[in-house]
Amino acid sequence: MPEINPLAIAQQQLDMAAEKLNLDPGVHAILREPMRTLEVNFPVKMDDGTVKVFKGYRAQHNDAIGPAKGGIRFHQSVNMDEVKALSMWMTFKCGVLGLPYGGGKGGVVVDPRTLSQSELERLSRAYFAAISSIIGPDKDIPAPDVNTNPQIMAWMMDEYSKYSGGVCHPGVVTGKPIIAGGSLGRSEATGRGCVIIIREAAKRLGLSLKGATAAIQGFGNVGGATARLLAKEGVKIVAIMEIDGGIYNPDGINPEDVLEYRKKAGTINGYPGCREIGNEELFALGCDILVPAAMENQITKENAGQIKAKLVAEAANGPTTPEADEILSKNGIMLTPDILTNAGGVTVSYFEWVQNFMNYYWTEEEVNSRLEQKMVEAFERIYQMSQDYQVNMRVAAYMASISRVAEAIKVRGWA
Ligand code: GLU
Repeated sequence: MPEINPLAIAQQQLDMAAEKLNLDPGVHAILREPMRTLEVNFPVKMDDGTVKVFKGYRAQHNDAIGPAKGGIRFHQSVNMDEVKALSMWMTFKCGVLGLPYGGGKGGVVVDPRTLSQSELERLSRAYFAAISSIIGPDKDIPAPDVNTNPQIMAWMMDEYSKYSGGVCHPGVVTGKPIIAGGSLGRSEATGRGCVIIIREAAKRLGLSLKGATAAIQGFGNVGGATARLLAKEGVKIVAIMEIDGGIYNPDGINPEDVLEYRKKAGTINGYPGCREIGNEELFALGCDILVPAAMENQITKENAGQIKAKLVAEAANGPTTPEADEILSKNGIMLTPDILTNAGGVTVSYFEWVQNFMNYYWTEEEVNSRLEQKMVEAFERIYQMSQDYQVNMRVAAYMASISRVAEAIKVRGWA
């Protein structure tokens, strides 16, 4: 299969919405590429005393509305075009939710499973030091993404304080541990937001969540929380797919139990009462809700035709290619796009950042209810737009978001 370039996909998605909006060509050209990118190669001392040089990136797509915002991923397949695409998606994600940010994204080419905890700490600090000249609480604010977590954010915040005269700037990263200025509710915010969007979409489809069935591809921070919270709504989780294999049980799987099982076994494979399942079979299951919560380019023109779900909710960034989008639309499958579905994470990151600046912290209930309000509003806005313009939810989300960024670009006088 030829490699699918996520940047080309992000640009294609932008072009499609730009055409529908009759977007100013200058603004369109500005949005097709990130405004700033940085590639860094930095040394890390390994436990055996040798020095290894790692490659990292940071892309800042746009800052017309506010500072760049977006995660940092540690993954062996990270590359500049992927990071650029992910930074574009962050601009549009923040636009969909009406957050005062532009988009950013970073990554390091590394499989973190090959590192010890102290190597992971040295790598996290060295990467942050290498990109620190373009980072700051009012310039660009990183957060967790694939394979990064609150502990890593704490190291990065600590590293940053060394480059700012020892001043502690908790607002330089979000997704921190609570004790280091994190927000209650942040760790499960992306999953919580996904479930809110699934619930709203299901209402429009006339699908009751009680007794509905779902398959989840990816069981990390996002997939795990989504599965757990969906089960609480009465959804029967029939299949879960992880990097090293998948499990299936038509009678339903208890995600909470699977999380416990994995803590001990190190894998979800072998979870009692289930049979093994592969990716393609999971996609083709006759269940109501399919949640891709892993990586980019999972739903392609090769497998989209097999999908029988009524609703595809993109918990991952960029899981569906444009050709697959068209196939799903033609087959009458509703898709809620990544830049809406998984926006709960960056929304609570925004709340964390606001709390850091106020130095006053909200209760978990307050965070969750603000998240609920923002996600429902965004869903309604995008759904209405898709009805008014007779376009799918992705195009509607892009149109809503691009109009907002375009207005900011124009009013500031860039184009
Ligand atoms: N990495 C997450 C995303 O892709 C969160 C970004 C953030 O919180 O800034 O949306």
